[in-house]
Amino acid sequence: MDCIFCKIIDGEIPSTKVYEDDMMLAFRDINPQAPEHIVIVPKCHIQSANEITSENVKYVAAIWEQIPKIAESLGFGKDGYRVVNNCGENGGQTVPHLHFHVLGGKKYIDL
Ligand code: AMP
Ligand code: ZN
Repeated sequence: MDCIFCKIIDGEIPSTKVYEDDMMLAFRDINPQAPEHIVIVPKCHIQSANEITSENVKYVAAIWEQIPKIAESLGFGKDGYRVVNNCGENGGQTVPHLHFHVLGGKKYIDL
């Protein structure tokens, strides 16, 4: 499948990995929008949040369980961080493989 994030998961495209297990891969965003900008992707091709089902939601649950641990391990957990999911065209999603942005190291004021 011609999916950038599937290729990153398979190691065909390099990434700066910060965490990996059997459910997810977390790596540094190539175009960071904050001092710390991590992308977390499920190891299963789910196109967007619109494609989350009772069958695959376990990947989403595992990711959310891991987010605070990844933030803590990278040193920005205690100061807080923002988690973003862009869904579809109006959401500004550019890579059609579900992912969560974790943005740390700066203070957000507005939504
Ligand atoms: P989105 O716009 O929500 O679909 O986010 C896609 C994100 O993937 C963007 O922030 C890109 O900078 C990031 N991205 C695209 N290609 C790569 C790559 N090869 N390595 C790391 N991050 C990437
Ligand atoms: Zn994919």
